[in-house]
Amino acid sequence: MTNLPISQLQEIFGERLQEGVHMNNYTTTKVGGPVTGLISINSASEMEFALTNLWKLNVPYYILGSGSNLLISDRGYDGIVLHNRSHNVKVNTKNEPPLVIAESGASLGQVAQLASRRGVSGFEWANSIPGTVGGAVYGNAGAHGTDISQILQSALVLTRAGGSQLLSNEDMGYEYRSSKFKRERKSVIILEATFVGQKADPEDCMSLLHELTEKRHKTQPVGPSFGSTFKNPAGNFAGKLLAEAGMKGVTCGGASFSKVHANFIVNNGGASAQDYYCLIRQGQKRVMEQFGVQLDLEIELLGEFEDVD
Ligand SMILES: Cc1cc2nc3c(=O)[nH]c(=O)nc-3n(C[C@H](O)[C@H](O)[C@H](O)COP(=O)(O)OP(=O)(O)OC[C@H]3O[C@@H](n4cnc5c(N)ncnc54)[C@H](O)[C@@H]3O)c2cc1C
Repeated sequence: MTNLPISQLQEIFGERLQEGVHMNNYTTTKVGGPVTGLISINSASEMEFALTNLWKLNVPYYILGSGSNLLISDRGYDGIVLHNRSHNVKVNTKNEPPLVIAESGASLGQVAQLASRRGVSGFEWANSIPGTVGGAVYGNAGAHGTDISQILQSALVLTRAGGSQLLSNEDMGYEYRSSKFKRERKSVIILEATFVGQKADPEDCMSLLHELTEKRHKTQPVGPSFGSTFKNPAGNFAGKLLAEAGMKGVTCGGASFSKVHANFIVNNGGASAQDYYCLIRQGQKRVMEQFGVQLDLEIELLGEFEDVD
């Protein structure tokens, strides 16, 4: 049963509106229930068209990148998921300093590789993060001691109240793994990002990119996950606290805290979103009981979950 005006949406979007899509094929954990509708977006103008219409009809929507920082409930979501696939990337080496301009559905890996191959350094760390530019700019993704806030010059965004506008790095209100928009759950849609790099030897860039990617492969578990579940609390590491609280290998249904890296929850096959949720709450509870430390989620939850004691 849906509360959405389906026939109006069908009229506007035609075959582009896919109904009752299961989200397990759209998330890196391979879990997630059905959404009322999903629309693939291939350009900024398609995003603008879709949102203008959804806003007019007051239809709830969710912007989905690679689904790599997200837990969607098994019950799904009664709204429209806009799956962002706009992926053009331009590298401008003539500018001083060089710039990389990427549509928000481009993958971070694609950006890192294109920039490095063209001798623009500063992006090598991003190769192993399996998200889109939009998700990364929204959540200030980072690795190897750096993050998006260190390279973002500006972001072209769309808001219901203000239309499209160019925001500066300062406007994003960046903190560790967070932006002002993520913290305040404000609806802002990132259409494009401009990043600043430095001129370098392409071979040096590619060699650093491979070195950092290799390092990641050695220290992170394989298998479906959403990467780090919790943010690191000030002066500590979530993975260390979870490991010391005995969470490595703890299982709920088809999901387990990884034995390789305790801040990762992996799908061993057939996990449900509720299995993930159950482990999230267990991890938070145990760390609070043993160390008095609150673990805050790095990932986002979408939809309803059953309460866990
Ligand atoms: C194996 C693995 C390793 C990882 N390693 C890292 C790591 O080292 N560092 C790190 O920071 N993260 C890491 N992650 C988490 C994740 O890849 C990043 O957070 C990534 O930036 C999320 O991007 P996404 O496109 O998947 O976003 P999604 O998961 O699709 O969405 C996340 C949030 O961003 C919002 N969003 C997405 N696109 C837009 C847009 N265009 N405009 C506005 N809002 C938008 C969504 O609405 C949602 O609220 C890892 C994940 C995995 C699976």
